Amino acid sequence: MTFTFYNTLGREKQMFKPLQEGKVGFYGCGPTVYNYAHIGNLRAYVHHDILVRSLRRSGFDVNHVMNITDVGHLSGDNDDGEDKMVKSAEERGKSVLEIADFYTLAFFNDTDRMNITRPTVVCKATEHINEMITLIQRIEKNGFTYFADGNLYFDIMKFPTYGELALLRLDEQKAGTRTVQDKNKRNPGDFVLWFTKSKFENQALVWDSPWGRGYPGWHIECSAMSMKYLGTAFDIHAGGIDHVPIHHTNEIAQSEAATGKKPCVYYWLHNEFLVMDKGKMSKSTGGFLTLQSLIDEGFDPLDYRYFLLGGHYRSQLQFSFESLKGAKNSRKTLMDKIKSKFSLTPLPQGTQSLQYMENFDKAIEDDLNTPRALAELWGLLRDGPATQEAFKAILDMDTILGLKLEEAVKNSENDGKNSINEEFVQEIEELITRRTEAKKTKDFATADNIRQSLKDRGIVLEDSSNGTVWKLCNN
Ligand code: AMP
Ligand code: ZN
Repeated sequence: MTFTFYNTLGREKQMFKPLQEGKVGFYGCGPTVYNYAHIGNLRAYVHHDILVRSLRRSGFDVNHVMNITDVGHLSGDNDDGEDKMVKSAEERGKSVLEIADFYTLAFFNDTDRMNITRPTVVCKATEHINEMITLIQRIEKNGFTYFADGNLYFDIMKFPTYGELALLRLDEQKAGTRTVQDKNKRNPGDFVLWFTKSKFENQALVWDSPWGRGYPGWHIECSAMSMKYLGTAFDIHAGGIDHVPIHHTNEIAQSEAATGKKPCVYYWLHNEFLVMDKGKMSKSTGGFLTLQSLIDEGFDPLDYRYFLLGGHYRSQLQFSFESLKGAKNSRKTLMDKIKSKFSLTPLPQGTQSLQYMENFDKAIEDDLNTPRALAELWGLLRDGPATQEAFKAILDMDTILGLKLEEAVKNSENDGKNSINEEFVQEIEELITRRTEAKKTKDFATADNIRQSLKDRGIVLEDSSNGTVWKLCNN
């Protein structure tokens, strides 16, 4: 498959070509574990999942790295506001690490329930402080920093391409053009690499560093950990659209200032937001929905996954329980159709070419167009043949969609009726042979018993001059 992805860096769809043939290095920004993930966050991780599944299915060996932010993330991405972890720990009467562990577990519980593939590497910020310090030292040595009132800052004016990702103009970033809370910043866009002057008296986690005892700014963790696990330049970086102007912009500045290599990342993919009542769903402002709250309302996590796949990741998606209900109904119909089409008939081998499968691939190749891909799945179910090939194609589509479609057929095995497995087919065939022999010897009672016992199991026999054939009845 030849993928094209919309690259935020350049604002256009570009053909994907990995740095190393057959391999993809992918970094997706992970959660800040001070609270449950809300369903908007989960949209970002479903997007990462579709990307990884699509690349893997087309044969790439994907190294998927995800960070866990357990230190340094303030409620304002621009070093403003409160420390999210410290605040949550205080509110809940726990230590920061207890909070981090609890919500990390909760996060993976949610992603597992949504059938989101786990990353190859999950790395915690607090376990990579040395890597961050070493990277900051490189940035400092290359002349991109200044020290003011106990904190080390990145000086964006020293980095001429600052803001390229977000189409920010450096001259608009100059001091005086907008207000900034931190008076030590030479320019509002400057950001902290290392804090020693904590704004918070009770800063829980601090480490020794060349600049004093303190803790890292938020953005440096992603530069340090992506470099550690994927190298100084790698293929794909993803995150929500909110990360474009600050977090990812700063990450590029840090990484490239440290290594002198440009670009540090070749393809930047950003998902649009899930919105509710025309507003952004946000962890820090509260009032958000968790996966559990959907489950409590009677939804399956896969209903929500299906709902998300119905929108393209680069379009804003409006959430409502009404539309989630629509997704739930559609998913149920989908599963029922698969069940009736592929387990209620013996599956013959087909020769028909499956245009739907090709179209499905084209949709995925085209910047992961899941709504179009879903439409092809529906097309195949509606108009495609009920053959082994068609069923295989559906399962193949599901390696990307992740809707557990094979369970439609498995469930029918469990409902006590028939499953089209080889054993059962063999049994039917043996019974037909016994019945034919019984009829030959005019033992009609046995023949009728066999016919009836098969009928009870949903099998009807049809006799003709060519012999007896069997079918599954639909009721
Ligand atoms: P956080 O845990 O706040 O660092 O966010 C985790 C991921 O979710 C990031 O990639 C965010 O950009 C993304 N994100 C946050 N809110 C939303 C939303 N409402 N819709 C989609 N993605 C979001
Ligand atoms: Zn990040």
